[in-house]
Amino acid sequence: MPHVASTDSLPLPNWPPATAAIADSIRDVVQSGDWGSYTAQAAKLLASQLASAFQVEHVRLCGSGTAAIELALQAVQVRPESEVILAGYDYPGNIRAIESVGGKPVIVDTQPGRWVIDVDQVENAINDSTSAILASHLYGNLFDAERLRAIADTHRIALIEDACQVHGASLAGRPAGSWGDVGILSFGGSKLMTSGSGGAMLMSDDRIAQRATLAAERPSPVAPLCGLQAAALLPQLSTLPAWNAQRRVAVGRLKDRLRPSRLWRFAEETPGEAETTYFKVAWFLPPAVDREAVIAAGLAAGIPLGPGFNGFLRRARRRYRTLGELRESGICGERSVVMDHRVLLANAEVIDCVAERLLAIENAIGVTVDG
Ligand SMILES: *Cc1c(COP(=O)(O)O)cnc(C)c1O
Repeated sequence: MPHVASTDSLPLPNWPPATAAIADSIRDVVQSGDWGSYTAQAAKLLASQLASAFQVEHVRLCGSGTAAIELALQAVQVRPESEVILAGYDYPGNIRAIESVGGKPVIVDTQPGRWVIDVDQVENAINDSTSAILASHLYGNLFDAERLRAIADTHRIALIEDACQVHGASLAGRPAGSWGDVGILSFGGSKLMTSGSGGAMLMSDDRIAQRATLAAERPSPVAPLCGLQAAALLPQLSTLPAWNAQRRVAVGRLKDRLRPSRLWRFAEETPGEAETTYFKVAWFLPPAVDREAVIAAGLAAGIPLGPGFNGFLRRARRRYRTLGELRESGICGERSVVMDHRVLLANAEVIDCVAERLLAIENAIGVTVDG
């Protein structure tokens, strides 16, 4: 029997983390006076450490992931009327970012049973107006970056790789975020590395990095990350690998405990996914299940569940060029349930307790599904 009784509140770790290393790092920067300019040493150090951790040549620190995406679209020369391909299920700010630089979003479906772009469809969406693909790794699911990179190269269009949810994940031995012409990180308050707000552009092409500088320096930076934020982030780069390993172990444990479940169905794992990480753990609920009720029951049990994104399905057909019916994107928008990563840094006993409570929700709502 677990020591956490079924009626106890769940002892989940806090996020953002309040480690001594973060507090010390910020205090050092304050005491050194290195926090009164746009070119703080701490920020330079962070940029160079990110460049080596993510195996890229250039890093531009930004005020948010959203700002980084907007600057990236400018840096790869998305111009008014040029088309940018993205999935019908994605972070809602991404489609807005495309529109904010005057680009035209073109929507393709997600891969069946996963939350990422269906790479098979991308080639069919490319035409003479296409200038970029914007694709996100979501909920620990990594899109096929190797293939999407090859498609982008073949058609001489840019790939912007949104790695805001997967700091420290890798695919085929290369860091997620290093496959795109621009890779994007967010350091928003809930993210796996955080400074409350912040982001970064990861680049290896000199000309793209130069254009990013042109777009961002006017002449002071439009969306800077300050020395205090950089100081908060520096120690997190060191703890990231161990914490990601702990997250993977926790997800493995949850998958194991929930294996008999017909409600808590994980996406099928792809071979390359052993090196992923999790900002959210996600499930696809069976069709007839009342998602609101499931989420409410989870929240009542102290489990940080939510519905994920809405997806672009409703607006897409009216406003954007779309490929096909976007059926899978619709399923992502309607049937996903996501759980915050805080759970994954809890100890094994708490993880088991979360699994038990999730199974209890299943019993309470009485799922009847085929297959
Ligand atoms: C959080 C997030 C963003 C935006 O980051 P902000 O720093 O909040 O602007 C973009 N894409 C994805 C997939 C995200 O999860």
